[in-house]
Amino acid sequence: MPDPRAPSAGDTVRRPLLTDSFGRKMTYLRLSVTDRCDLRCVYCMAEHMHFVFHKDLLTLEELYRLSAVFMRHGVRKIRITGGEPLVRKNIMCLFEMLSRHIDNGDLDELVLTTNGTQLPRFAQQLHDYGLRRVNVSLDSLDPDRYRTLTRGGDVRKALAGIEAAQKAGLKVKINSVAMRGAFENELDGLIRFTHERGIDLTLIEEMPLGDVHHDRSASFLPLDSVRQNLETRWTLTPLKANTGGPARYVRVEETGGQLGFITPLSCDFCASCNRLRVSCTGDLYTCMGKDTSVPLREALRTSCGDEKVEGVIFDAIARKPERHSLSVASNAVSGIGRHMSVLGG
Ligand code: SAM
Ligand code: SF4
Repeated sequence: MPDPRAPSAGDTVRRPLLTDSFGRKMTYLRLSVTDRCDLRCVYCMAEHMHFVFHKDLLTLEELYRLSAVFMRHGVRKIRITGGEPLVRKNIMCLFEMLSRHIDNGDLDELVLTTNGTQLPRFAQQLHDYGLRRVNVSLDSLDPDRYRTLTRGGDVRKALAGIEAAQKAGLKVKINSVAMRGAFENELDGLIRFTHERGIDLTLIEEMPLGDVHHDRSASFLPLDSVRQNLETRWTLTPLKANTGGPARYVRVEETGGQLGFITPLSCDFCASCNRLRVSCTGDLYTCMGKDTSVPLREALRTSCGDEKVEGVIFDAIARKPERHSLSVASNAVSGIGRHMSVLGG
């Protein structure tokens, strides 16, 4: 269990910032805490997955220690992701530890991406630990389609999670992965459902990450065509706000709600990328669209001080690629072997 008296990043002298060779400053860490999940979404996982051995997972202490190293070097926002982060045993201890860094000003934000099924249990505690925003993945409101897409999930659990999060005072954003087929028919319903509840909706293009036993080029639905189709029924006004991430936002005038489009493949956000990703086994990925990573676990486990870990991190950031090279042109030929559940969104 993490030691609640552990020194805070704010207690120590700040170190050099994490700047890559293109001058981009890394201020945002996405930290995967597990590759396991209670669902098996068809675009994310294969039906039968091999999960990592427990001994290879970073412990909660190691996840915290690594977060502190990143915060000391200028990371101001941490997103906890997975797999499904809320199925990791004792995960609330990590939130509790990280919450101290919101209190002392090291962190601007601690956020979470979840499928929502465990939120009825944890939403209030998460709010108590300083979380204010949560992204919930929901691709369908239809119980049958949700069950098919998640290979067995119960949409009522996700909906109860969303309700619990809002009740606890968390600002909810819903992410939906666009896939050719029924999605297009459901989209109007998703817009109404989210915007009626004051929830922003973001659509994500399917990315060719990992073999999931379907033809990605057949299921890929380009969001520019979705947008064109929406514009025949809704008035979409582009919004200027840019989070530095891959999403472009519009306001849906009929609802007053916000709709985002994440188009990682037709990438025009790499130039402002401020993100780093660490897998649950401690591999640092400086670009989600590349298969290359550097291991931090051994450096963590074989040294008491953080110099060794810092050395590996700085080295990796110096080699952060200028842009990703993902493409769905011919069924993931240009995709990569790692499943999304290894690293999180
Ligand atoms: N289990 C949590 C969830 O579903 O929100 C967090 C991890 S999940 C891997 C993070 C995000 O990645 C989700 O919004 C999910 O929809 C998205 N995702 C998974 N596989 C994807 C893929 N192949 N392409 C695009 N988005 C994907
Ligand atoms: Fe699990 Fe999230 Fe992947 Fe769905 S998208 S299988 S909920 S990790």
